[in-house]
This record gives sequence, C-alpha cells and structure tokens, in this order.
Amino acid sequence: MTDFFDEGTLVAVLTTQPLDRALDYRAPEGGCHLGAFVEVPLGPRKVLGVVWGAGQGDYDYNKVRSVIRVLDAAPLRDEMKAFLERAAAYTLTPLPAMLRLATRAPGLGDPPSMRKVYRRGDGAPDRVTKARTAVIDTLAEYGDLSFTLKELAEMADVTSSVVKGLVAQGVVREEDSPRDLPFARLDPSLPSKALTEDQAAASAHLAQAVTSESYGTTLLRGVTGSGKTEVYLEAVASALRAGRQALVLLPEIALTEQFLTRVEARFGAKPAEWHSGATMTERRRIWRMVGQGQAQLVIGARSALFLPYQNLGLIVVDEEHDTSYKQEDGVLYHARDMAVLRASICGAHVVLASATPSLESWANAEAGKYTRLELTSRFGPAVMPKMGTIDMRAETLRSDRWVSPRLKAEVDARLERGEQAMLFINRRGYAPITLCRACGHQIGCDDCDARMVEHRFLKRLICHQCGESKPMPTACPSCEAEDKLAAVGPGVERLGEEAAAIWPEARIATLSSDMYGSARALKAEISAIGEGAADIIIGTQLVAKGHNFPKLTLVGVIDADLGLTGSDLRAAERTFQLMRQVAGRAGRAEAPGTALLQTYQPEHPVIRAILAGEEEAFWKAEADERRGAGMPPYGRLAGIILSGPEVGAVFDAGNQLARNDRALREIGAQVFGPAPAPIARVRGRHRVRLLVKADKGAPLQRALAQWISQIRLKGDLRLAVDIDPQSF
Ligand code: ADP
Ligand code: ZN
Repeated sequence: MTDFFDEGTLVAVLTTQPLDRALDYRAPEGGCHLGAFVEVPLGPRKVLGVVWGAGQGDYDYNKVRSVIRVLDAAPLRDEMKAFLERAAAYTLTPLPAMLRLATRAPGLGDPPSMRKVYRRGDGAPDRVTKARTAVIDTLAEYGDLSFTLKELAEMADVTSSVVKGLVAQGVVREEDSPRDLPFARLDPSLPSKALTEDQAAASAHLAQAVTSESYGTTLLRGVTGSGKTEVYLEAVASALRAGRQALVLLPEIALTEQFLTRVEARFGAKPAEWHSGATMTERRRIWRMVGQGQAQLVIGARSALFLPYQNLGLIVVDEEHDTSYKQEDGVLYHARDMAVLRASICGAHVVLASATPSLESWANAEAGKYTRLELTSRFGPAVMPKMGTIDMRAETLRSDRWVSPRLKAEVDARLERGEQAMLFINRRGYAPITLCRACGHQIGCDDCDARMVEHRFLKRLICHQCGESKPMPTACPSCEAEDKLAAVGPGVERLGEEAAAIWPEARIATLSSDMYGSARALKAEISAIGEGAADIIIGTQLVAKGHNFPKLTLVGVIDADLGLTGSDLRAAERTFQLMRQVAGRAGRAEAPGTALLQTYQPEHPVIRAILAGEEEAFWKAEADERRGAGMPPYGRLAGIILSGPEVGAVFDAGNQLARNDRALREIGAQVFGPAPAPIARVRGRHRVRLLVKADKGAPLQRALAQWISQIRLKGDLRLAVDIDPQSF
C-alpha cells in the first residue's frame, strides 16, 4: 500500500469520536501521509483524526468532504497503528477509544507558535507580595521550563494578572512557545556502581537481550533492596548505548523524587517524566520529543505506553504485581500485558521487576515464556527483616485503640535507639464507618453502594468509590439526633492520632495521599522522612512502594487480616504481596529490621507463608488452587459489566445475554451471573456483572464479540468488557 495520498484521493480517517469505523475524506491540498494527524469536518464540528488507510470509496465522491488540514506532528507509525489495533482487539475496545489514549497530548492541533509561554526572567520585583513570591518560587523550582499563563497561574495559585504584573518588571519572561525544547542528553557511559556477582550476571543477560533487537520478556525477581533498580538501570544503559529509547513504568509516578535523583546520578541528566500531574506544556513537549526520538528515557505512569516512540528498545515494568497497573475506568487494560504486546510489535525487551511477582508472571516464567532472573540477597550488610506475629487474642487493649502493648514496647525500643518505626494500615481517612449511636444508621454514599469514609483532616465525608464528598454533619442524616455520630474502626488518620497520644514526644508523619495539597508536597515530605525528619511514620499502601528509608528498622502492620476475608480468589496473593512489600521497608541499611503483623489468626496459611518467606512454596500452592479451579492464569476470564440507572433494566439485559450464550458454548465457555458487580452501584448507576470462563487456548475475544453484538442497549444502558478482571 502506498503511504502517501495525493490531493483529492480518498483516505480513511479514524477519529477519536465514538463511531464504529473510519470515515472517507478527500486528501487536502498538498496531499497527506499515511498516519498523518489531521483535522476533519464531522457534522458541524472539526475533529482530530488520523489517516488510517486508503478510502473505501463506497460513497458518491462528490459528497465526500475534504480534510481541513494536516497537523504539525509526525505521522503515527505503522507499529503504533498495529499496537492500537491489537490492543483494541484484545480488550474488545472500539478503536476510536484506543486512539484517544494515543492522542492525549494536548495542543496537538495548535497552529505553531500561537501560544505565549512564561518562564523565569532576570528582573527583580519592585515590591514583594505573597502572590508574587508564589510565582517566583514556582518558576525557580522548574528552572528554565516554561508554562502557559493559565498553567503558571494555577500552579502558583494566583490570578493571571499577578503573572502579567511580573512580566512588566522582567521578573517573568514572556516568549513564543518553545514547542520543542529538547531534553538534556543522558550519558550511558558514566560509570555504574560496582555490581555484585548476582547483579552483574543479571545485568549481562539483560544487556544481551536488549541488544538482540528482538522481543523477549524477563522476570527480574529479587527481594526488596537486592538491587533490581540498579540492574534494570544497566539495561536502560544498554538500550541507550544501542541508540534505542527506554520506558520505565512505575505504579505511583507522582512519588518518585528519590528515583529521579537516582536516574540523574546514573545518566547525568533528568529523564522525561510522564504522568497525569504533568503540566500541559510538559506533556506536549514530551509527546513531541518522544516522537522525534529525542527523549531517550521516559519514566511514566501506564499511559506512557501510548507515547509515539520512534525506536523503543526496552520497557521496564517496576513493581509489576501492583494493582494500579490495571486501568479500571474508561478503556480497561492492564499495563503489564500492554507492555508485552507493545514490545512484541516493535522488537523490544520487557523487564518485569518485583520482589513478589504476580501469579500471572510467575506462571509465565514457569512455563518458559519469560526468562527468570533472581537476585537472592539484599545489597551490602542489609539483611531481610525478621518477621513475626502479634497474636491479638492475647493482647488487651481498649476497643478504640489499635496499637497493642507489645507493638508499643517494640516502637519504644526503636525510639530509644534513635531509629525509625512505621505503623502500616491499608485504610485511608479517619474511620471507615460513621455510625449514629441513637438509631444505628451508617452513613453511606447517595450514589454508590459504599460507606462514606470520614476524613477528619479535611473535615469531610468522602466516598472512596466515586469521590463524592460532603461536610461532616453534626446530626444523624436519618434520625436527626445531634452529636450522636461516632467513628467506628481505624483509618490512617485515626492511627496517627493514637500514635500522638501514645508518643507525645515523637515526631510523627502521617502519609496519606489526601493529606497533602499536591503531589509535590507529598514528595518533599517523603524525601524529608528518608533523611530522618520523623521518628514514626504512619502510612497506607502508599508507603509500601519503593521508598528508601535507611533509618527504618521496625514495621508494625496494624491489621494483617484485612485482606484475608472475602471471597476474592486473589485475596491471598494480594495479602502476601502487600505484607512482604511492607515488611521489605524495614532494615534497608546497616541496622537489621523487624516486621510484626498484628493478627487474630496467626495460624492462617497465608500468614504463615508470609512469615516463613517460603515464596516458592506459596506460589506453587496458589498455582495448584487456581489450576484446579480453571482460573487465571490457567484459564481465561472476562467480565461483562452492564450498568444503568434502573436496576431492573440492567438485570433484564444481563439475563437476556445469559440466555443467548450460543457463541460462548461453541468455544466451550461458561457464563455465570448476572450478579451484582463487586461494586454494585457507582455514581448512581447500578452495575451487574456476567463472568465468562473459558479454557486457556479458547478464542475468547472472538466469541465475546459475537455474543455481545446480539444485544441492543436501550436507553441509558451501558456495557463494558473487562478482559482478565482483577477481582473474581
Ligand atoms: P531494589 O530495587 O531491589 O529494591 P535497589 O536497586 O533500590 O533495590 O537497591 C537497594 C539499595 O542498595 C539502593 O540504595 C542501591 O543504591 C544500593 N545498591 C544496590 N546495589 C548496589 C551496588 N552494586 N553498589 C552500590 N549500591 C548498591
Ligand atoms: Zn459514591
């Protein structure tokens, strides 16, 4: 097929609008390339699209409208097209929705140099005000980066007239948009650390894999602190030396100050950082620089998979077991699977790094699909923490207290030695339940099937499902009794309060994402803690991930049983991973660490596996159980979520689908449900789920597509397909 279309020839343009196919247009004056980003008329509107191929020509030529203009961006590569098509087919997502993930760069359609941008100038203000200082500080933090007026005003939390005032005095410089401000070159030839024998062997294997220019996946397994990061940075170095780009995916991208500093130390310059909190200017710049091959290394959240790499040679998925890699809104995809797909299309290598891999990756390594590399010991003098339980049945404490006397004594001992201790609880907010002591009513969300969680720090009740919040009431919304509302159960804020009462002299840092105004403030706090600014760290899941606190020697898990209840088949795997991960925070430097789990069921097999650290045995037992049940990764599963405002109509649609299951039966698949979805109501919409289970080799997507195409969704009903659902 040709890859250039002369003026007037028919091209098929795929837009990001919810249509089921590409539409024909005439190529504009000057013609256009295959893959070109274009603006086309659609009804009365102008929309963004991509030239996807030759036109079908099944219309009267005279009625076909013309492409309005070709946008100033490099055409979408064939490889990217193939990736989007296959990702769409795998997740059963309409292609336009997939394309939207790849065109998220803002300002793609801006004519060149239309915008003004603002950056640090060298003038001095005639008068210093709080607002002006905020602008100056913001710009100072970003060095020579520039921002649009709106971005800068928002970041500094001032009005645009404050910025304009500073422009007049030369404190802020106004200039045309530097769309293509390049990134500083990373230098892979700077010396690496002296690697241990294990590390060197792993690194040599990866260097070889990366330079082979063919697809492959390696599972890099090693206990926390064993040097996985060190090793995969060497793989990045190999890719850069070979002139290829590298992508490192991280689960909590906003919290990577320590990580970026490490990358900078290794390569002498900062990488591109792609995440939802990045400014518009920064995103536009990264998108363009990645497309030109100029940005060599991207550190990003899962959406960084959809950037237009020119020559991608390596994708690292750090903490590959992390649940946040599954996108649960909009297009439902798992970043780990998409990384493997993307790499297999462009001949890149994938490194999946984890101390506690997902059962999926473990099984793929067992089956020989992935290479497995192991780092067995912690780097240097650091040893794995000692693990133990605190049997809560034997401890006496008040019903509104959660730190057992034994845990308190252990923390005391750390404080005396000038070490840090961490108390971990996997619950945000102050208390999970707000109960009226007069009538027994529990405050729930109006729109979801969920309780409202008190966030005392914000003085609000928040629904963790939909984010809806309201001020904390003083009277019960049901019986109107005054001052009868009571907090029930512990959350991270309440634990912070308890700790402050127990240790009034200690410096206590409570780390929960919603207690910090910005990701930047949270990052700063984490760095400060790493340098010893707190004695006791209280935190949620947030602190379990990758942070390095050298003085931390004790981790106390407040409620180790939290994840063990419930019918979710993945509960054991999750608890195992989370507990090992949290425990791994302790004793990362010279001082040995201890992790203590408060539990009411110390003899539970999962708790025992966590203590024994017999990971291989744990995985084998889990694998056997899943294999026996024909569940992932040994069988295939898909969820169909139907939602709508009327519960009856939603169930009717579900039943109709369940009855007409011929397409599924033909491939030997079974359908279960409809049943209320794991979250049965979200934002006022009722949700039911059908689960489809098939053998590993069955053509599940094809059958599913055929099956769901039978149903006509009436009114406000919606259907979403969730391939490989995370909870089942
Ligand atoms: P992981 O990613 O497995 O948790 P890291 O790569 O973060 O482990 O290593 C843990 C700590 O040990 C880091 O501070 C790292 O800089 C240090 N480290 C690991 N390997 C080496 C090495 N070969 N030389 C010097 N320091 C190392
Ligand atoms: Zn809600």
